[in-house]
Amino acid sequence: MATTYIALGSNLGDRRSHLEHALTRLADVGRVEAGSPIYETDPVGGPPDQPAYLNAVVRLGTELTPDRLLLSLQDIERERGRTREVRWEARTLDLDILRYGDLTLASDGLVIPHPEIRNRAFVLAPMTDVEPGLGDGDGSYVQALDELGAAGLRRISGPVDPAESRWMMGLADAVELEGEGPFHVEAHRDWSNSSGDAFGAFLAACALAAASRVHPGFRPSDFAYRFVHPVPPGASLTIDVEELRSSAAASELRIQVWCEGRVCGTSAVSLVSRPSDPVVGPPMPRVVGRDRAIPAYHLVEAAGRTPGRSLHSWTPLERWDLPDLASGSEDVLRAWSPNVTFGNDRPDLIAASMLMPIDALMWPAALQRRGDLPFGSPIATPTIDLTVRYATMVSDPWYVAEAKIDHEAGRSMAGTVRVWGSDGSYGAVGHSLNLVLGGASPTDGL
Ligand code: ATP
Ligand code: CA
Ligand code: CA
Repeated sequence: MATTYIALGSNLGDRRSHLEHALTRLADVGRVEAGSPIYETDPVGGPPDQPAYLNAVVRLGTELTPDRLLLSLQDIERERGRTREVRWEARTLDLDILRYGDLTLASDGLVIPHPEIRNRAFVLAPMTDVEPGLGDGDGSYVQALDELGAAGLRRISGPVDPAESRWMMGLADAVELEGEGPFHVEAHRDWSNSSGDAFGAFLAACALAAASRVHPGFRPSDFAYRFVHPVPPGASLTIDVEELRSSAAASELRIQVWCEGRVCGTSAVSLVSRPSDPVVGPPMPRVVGRDRAIPAYHLVEAAGRTPGRSLHSWTPLERWDLPDLASGSEDVLRAWSPNVTFGNDRPDLIAASMLMPIDALMWPAALQRRGDLPFGSPIATPTIDLTVRYATMVSDPWYVAEAKIDHEAGRSMAGTVRVWGSDGSYGAVGHSLNLVLGGASPTDGL
């Protein structure tokens, strides 16, 4: 079985449905092992005034030879009415072989690796989302992407759920609110409660999105969320917003999230109308390069555990085997965390994305420190209390996050998580209090 990377692109017709068709059909051609989020990207090259593209990369295990694989991809392109008249013209579906194992090949009809990989951010970004360690003789693709920059790219979905060959829902769509309030939203199963969880970040994102509907021009500065009752997957949520006080410069809101007739969470949000003066925070720690970090679900699988769905829907890259290089402390964990709303400039969504590591990094911390839990059983760290103070609204594609356990007693664990943009700007500090549970479901024992 060869491990291949396939690039998917579309900028004509129903772009999303062309990509979804391709993903379904790739599952016939081989085994879809992983896939990047869908990116919307500004067109590069080709005739002028082309519509924006959707791009993604899928890791496909296949028994087909390179030539046969190309023929299969061309069949799939034709099923979506692909034509070829002008070079790089708009197309319904384009499927390219980026890599085929370690093979290098240059024949008339097929060049592997694809010669343009290093020149295309719309390929490098999704490819390194799937496998950050990839590269070639000229260096890592992560480094190539950092040199090119990610301008013109927007993440518009979650990554592929490999079990179902479909794209998971992105945070921006999951927390889309309509009307004047009370707001209604479904706890979509892609953001549902499971081990390795970012579900708290979803609930908190609902509160932030509700606050921003009351004051669209403002941005969050302080945020607290207390989790009262667990929320079952698929449940309908109602979000009530009460404005406590407001001025032209700031507003304070109390938000309650209701589920099945009772309050499941309460939140306090402070909003400000203008960015604060430059914020002085601790400098970004030295961190291992993104190309040497490991997608968290690899680590979970390697530990004989089953990754939670939201670990796939969020996919941080971790090196929690490294002690704090500065102090020698083993209690500090570092991770690269994707900005799941990258390319979206709404402050509430950026703030929500910065919550992901703050809410969820306590989980690997617990996994590491409670290594005595029986292997094969899930572990969960439901957050029960979360406070966040924002500094800079960091809109980089990646964050660096650092988690430090401050307190551990019985089945509770408290810690501090800091977030920086990958350019070193200080983003936020959060404190979270979690339960640490080993058992069939994270709500066991609550
Ligand atoms: P680009 O290759 O620059 O992305 P394109 O995808 O728009 O351009 P197409 O018209 O789709 O170009 O393909 C032109 C030819 O490229 C195909 O007929 C195919 O034989 C050839 N080709 C060479 N190497 C590859 C590869 N690795 N994957 C897919 N097609 C390839
Ligand atoms: Ca192409
Ligand atoms: Ca092509």
